[in-house]
Amino acid sequence: MATDPQAPPREFDFPVSSPFAEGLGQSFLDEVPEVEEVDIGEGADPVAEFRRTLGMFPTGVTIITTQAEGQVHGMTANAFMSVSLRPPLVLISVDRRAKMNSLLHEGSRYGISVLGDEQEALSDHFAGRVLDDPPEARFLLVRETPLVDGAVAHIVARVVRSYWGGDHSLFLGQVEFARSRPGAPLLFHGGRYEHVLADAPVFGALAPERLERLLASGEERSYADGERIVAAGELGEELYVVLEGAVRVERGGALLASFAQGDLFGEVAVLDGRPRSADVVADGETRCLSVSRDAIREAIAAEPQVAWELLGVLAGRLRDA
Ligand code: FAD
Repeated sequence: MATDPQAPPREFDFPVSSPFAEGLGQSFLDEVPEVEEVDIGEGADPVAEFRRTLGMFPTGVTIITTQAEGQVHGMTANAFMSVSLRPPLVLISVDRRAKMNSLLHEGSRYGISVLGDEQEALSDHFAGRVLDDPPEARFLLVRETPLVDGAVAHIVARVVRSYWGGDHSLFLGQVEFARSRPGAPLLFHGGRYEHVLADAPVFGALAPERLERLLASGEERSYADGERIVAAGELGEELYVVLEGAVRVERGGALLASFAQGDLFGEVAVLDGRPRSADVVADGETRCLSVSRDAIREAIAAEPQVAWELLGVLAGRLRDA
């Protein structure tokens, strides 16, 4: 029997009986576009060119997981997006040739584990790449759904709808579980992994005796639990050292990082005096040393070698970027 190349594949030919499907179904599978030539430029291979263009959109990296007949299956995917907050919905796009595609259907659950910066090997492994020293994947089970241990975010979603997406299938999932932890995510851009530039120390990289002289004119201050030490948008007029206790760095209520006794913070903002990008809040009773920008400038003027060392530190950061 001849098959229409534009007809949606049979596996999507099922009714959807979910409250979330209400109002969503009208365009289901009935608006498959005509195949058209894509104006892709002068590249020799149009598919590769299209792929390269799409790859300019930077993403994180996830492992999609599911459990079928007691077996855990995982697959690397960057085609993950948030869709809706109310109701909570997410979407994944899975190659129709992937084993994962045959395991997901209406009512089944999938897990999304957003990989951390240090989980590149897991990404390669779950993409089916052969590694000399494959990492050991450990799974947590939430709502009968496996999630990859150590990820920066975990989501469990139940498939409420699937859509034909050409050579991929789109699985709309109603979120049932979501958790995250502070930490840098692994990135993917231009067909390769990228990394968020870590908050490498600046002043903290100076020789201890130099740093001590630089901080000598600092003032000690005490903060109550939850008290704001610096506010986002405030000019970077001071450098801080945690003397006792701990602080949390927050943006829009989300925890970005935390610093403990002996750590410096506000190191970059104090260099150029520009507005700070996040709030810093005391985590319990906390004591900090605060050193003004002017005092730092004077200390550097008295010991110019410090400026040279700082330039070296900044050059290292640029190189890492
Ligand atoms: P397989 O190829 O059979 O399995 C994938 C790998 O995971 C195998 O090595 C397998 O041994 C291992 N594995 C599976 N389950 C377990 C387990 N329980 N314990 C230990 N190991 C296990 N494809 C898409 O369709 N959509 C995307 O968005 C997408 N994004 C990608 C992003 C990146 C950065 C990369 C590198 C690849 C991406 N891919 C994507 C490609 C996709 O990851 C591969 O094609 C993958 O091999 C498809 O998986 P599969 O379900 O066919 O399973």
